[in-house]
Amino acid sequence: MWYSTLLIGCAVLEAVWGIPRRDTGSFWHITDLHLDFYYSAEGGNGLDICPSSYGTEPLDPGTYGDYRCDSPMQLIKSSINAMKTIDGNPDFILWTGDDTLHTSQQNRYLSEELVLKTIWNITELLQQTFPSTTVFASLGNHDYHPKYEMPPKRNAIVEMIADIWEPWMTVEQFAMFRETGFGSRLVPTRDLRIIMLNTNLWDASNPTIDGENDIDPAGQFEWFGNQLNLTRSEGKKVYITGHIGPGFFEMVSNETYYFKRYNERYVALVQSYADVIAGQFFGHHHTDSFRLFYNESKHPISVLFYEPGVTPRIGIRDGSTNPGIRLFQYDRTTFKQTDFTQYFLNLSQANALDTASWVEEYSALSEYLIPDLSPASLKAVATRLREDPSFNNETCSLQTFLQRYHLLNTVSYVHGACDDTCQKNHVCAVENVDQESYYRCMSEWDGNSATQNSASIALTVLSFLLCIL
Ligand SMILES: [Zn+2]
Ligand SMILES: [Zn+2]
Repeated sequence: MWYSTLLIGCAVLEAVWGIPRRDTGSFWHITDLHLDFYYSAEGGNGLDICPSSYGTEPLDPGTYGDYRCDSPMQLIKSSINAMKTIDGNPDFILWTGDDTLHTSQQNRYLSEELVLKTIWNITELLQQTFPSTTVFASLGNHDYHPKYEMPPKRNAIVEMIADIWEPWMTVEQFAMFRETGFGSRLVPTRDLRIIMLNTNLWDASNPTIDGENDIDPAGQFEWFGNQLNLTRSEGKKVYITGHIGPGFFEMVSNETYYFKRYNERYVALVQSYADVIAGQFFGHHHTDSFRLFYNESKHPISVLFYEPGVTPRIGIRDGSTNPGIRLFQYDRTTFKQTDFTQYFLNLSQANALDTASWVEEYSALSEYLIPDLSPASLKAVATRLREDPSFNNETCSLQTFLQRYHLLNTVSYVHGACDDTCQKNHVCAVENVDQESYYRCMSEWDGNSATQNSASIALTVLSFLLCIL
């Protein structure tokens, strides 16, 4: 009774004072599904179980996969079914690429046919599960054969992927994507344009790209800038999506993927169009993190989210995560994200019980105690990560803000405690997308560590004592 009175009261206040009621929608972001068609838990050992383990022995293979293997079809089906069960009516779905398996023997296990078969299978699953939902899909480095080698010109594989994805595209978008592997379209009935970049064209691991001399492969930057300009002139907003993102990988030191000139050009575009950009969503890392962009006066102006993959295998580094999928809540008027919930599958438990129970891992606002997902709020998270003490007693350290973030970074797969080097890698990557400021952060951190060495040792000892008492 009192609750309905309160609601009526709010409605009256809205009507009298003209306070607009928030119209909230949702969308899914999934990435790095990496389907391993060859996976067989009964396969025997090593490569017989999964070629995606690179010959190392799987840890505990079961129905839903193994921490050293890419996703079996059962895992992918369970992730898409979980999306349907949790929120079967999202406004749209972002799917940011990398669909085939990792393998060191690509001549044996990969082919153009396998790339297309994999993408066709996942597309069909999504279309059957979400028949009336538009999926905004982009291409990863594992969505071409040979992997990483997508050229900056028209090619048969991208043409055929365009044919597979045509039901999700406008006529104009289809024509553009078929030529280039990138494109954009408006979300139906909303003033929101989704830009799907083909970031393979900026990847320093792509041997078909001449990052030293080619200032704009396939003209993607010029097109990207024009899209941002168009959106501003229309009074609309954009979400930027793609597979490989700018900046640095947060798990290790000094690892970045774009050619430097493309990285800095991306940062400059975000700085110029921060008023138009309402979100940035990428994959490739397979881990859970975010990036901050600043204006010249060091004020945070934009946030980029790195979303963990469905595959339990970290491809660009040895390592593992639990499979993850992410649901965003957003304001349908401003297109700002109001929160997200990270869902995950505890893989070892799913295999042990032979049942896939996807559950909430955390929600951003309650986990980080922030009022929203604005750049200022994420800056506050970054500051806490920077100021939190790091130390190596694993049991205890998992209770701190930094260690909790570190655990979520690998979707609750325990990799041990986050020490000083780990903290430096994460904080410098989160706060610095442009290369110069990243390297400055890394060297200043080392300098500070040297000068504060005795103080930090004392703090570490004190923390440890407090922890075990
Ligand atoms: Zn991947
Ligand atoms: Zn990738």
